Amino acid sequence: MAQQDDVFKNIVSHAKEYGFVFQSSEIYDGLGAVYDYGPNGAELKNNIKAYWWKAMVQMHENIVGIDSAIFMHPKTWKASGHVDAFNDPLIDNKDSKKRYRADVLVEEHIEKINQKIQKDIDKAAKRFGDAFDEAQFRATNPNVTRRQEEISQIEARMKAAMDNEDWADFKALIEDLAIACPVSGSKNWTDVRQFNLMFNTQLGNIAGEEGKLYLRPETAQGIFVNFLNVLNTTRQKVPFGIAQIGKAFRNEIVARQFIFRMREFEQMEMQFFVRPGEQTKWYDYWKEERLKWHKALGLGKENYRFHDHLKPAHYADNALDIEFNFPFGFKELEGVHSRTDFDLTQHQELSGKKLQYFDPELQESYVPFVIETSIGLDRMFLATLSACYKNEDLGDGNSRVVLALPPVLAPVKVAIFPLTKKDGLPEKAREIFNQLRLDLPCQYEEKDNIGKRYRRQDAIGTPYCITVDHQTLEDNTVTIRERDSMEQERISIEEVRKVALERCSWAKVLH
Ligand code: ATP
Repeated sequence: MAQQDDVFKNIVSHAKEYGFVFQSSEIYDGLGAVYDYGPNGAELKNNIKAYWWKAMVQMHENIVGIDSAIFMHPKTWKASGHVDAFNDPLIDNKDSKKRYRADVLVEEHIEKINQKIQKDIDKAAKRFGDAFDEAQFRATNPNVTRRQEEISQIEARMKAAMDNEDWADFKALIEDLAIACPVSGSKNWTDVRQFNLMFNTQLGNIAGEEGKLYLRPETAQGIFVNFLNVLNTTRQKVPFGIAQIGKAFRNEIVARQFIFRMREFEQMEMQFFVRPGEQTKWYDYWKEERLKWHKALGLGKENYRFHDHLKPAHYADNALDIEFNFPFGFKELEGVHSRTDFDLTQHQELSGKKLQYFDPELQESYVPFVIETSIGLDRMFLATLSACYKNEDLGDGNSRVVLALPPVLAPVKVAIFPLTKKDGLPEKAREIFNQLRLDLPCQYEEKDNIGKRYRRQDAIGTPYCITVDHQTLEDNTVTIRERDSMEQERISIEEVRKVALERCSWAKVLH
């Protein structure tokens, strides 16, 4: 774990040092869980967006993209259930003044009991060797069954408190379990309160509740309210999808882990409208399709797994996460949700507008069911960075930090160097640079020796470096060095554009 923590720390500091991610408003000591993307970060983020947009919108004839506003009519959030149900229970410790999610405190307590059970199991497994039967041990060992029963009771009480909104009993549960604040060590807790995760602000000319506006907590609703507009302005027929990329805001109670959990973040969401009754088929389709999208990047097939939700959100009849193996363990990267006809039906009711589709084959109108794929752009950024960050031992007492980014995602595709700053080499290198940058993001560099320039480009993930040397002036060839293998080959200047375009082509990842 300590080692994993170190890896994570290194990634965070690398992200800062090389202009990928900065703490927001850093000169004022930062703003909690809000981050800015630097020059290389902005490029990488744009490339991730492009990969998603190309794969989802351009490669699917039956998906179109939109870009809806962050502000929406307040009724939107009443209809979607976010005003009433997008809450977390929070509790403060009066001594440390630290705020916690009450359910997380209880879950952590349960986890500790689970760890005790695991200890007993490990001990018994050691004692009995091959003859050990874990299932039987779990069912019969009095210590284990007592602890298991304890867990069931805690879970049942927490669920009842949440379902009945009995916050007094939730607090009593925390007190009965003698849960102490990890910071102050005290059990001096405030009451448990419901905390709505939506940020709100006020529309200029309307006072009070009426003018209350929310910063959208998901981009999906912008798609639902535009369902008819899209249907009426395109030739799409069910099944079809609407995609969009945009900012979302959540006032997360506990926001840690760098850009994994932010208060302002970006989502890439797609709502796929299907015939009622066909949702399971499309849910299975999109779950596999999305996993393929991830795997095509080559960040390691073993780094993904599905996690089915036992209790989907209020709007869903089926839901799963695609989890990624982050430096702090497997965590949600993307959600695939079968959202039923919940959202469109709700908007239909609150707006009084018919949000239906006339199916020419069935000769009937219906409210389509929806499969949603929803990925956090910032989490995808972190997943990419963590999978690609490598500290390589080069064997001769040297090491290098390299970001082994897929070429399509790399902020700079090709760096062009003159070997020295004289003899006409810079002029020749600039000629190549000026031609190539029309097609690809390139960098021209002449400072420091070649080795240092290679290291700098490795650290930002540039897949190809081209060096113009004295031989270039004689035979019009240059060296092209590949980042991961560090191998160099000589190619002619005429070939540079073709080779670079081919190796950095979207065709390598899109199918
Ligand atoms: P979590 O359980 O981690 O809070 P969630 O289940 O609430 O996430 P969804 O509502 O399904 O998340 O949102 C879809 C995607 O948006 C998530 O898979 C994640 O990638 C991203 N996302 C959600 N909340 C945040 C956040 N606070 N910061 C960054 N990305 C987020």
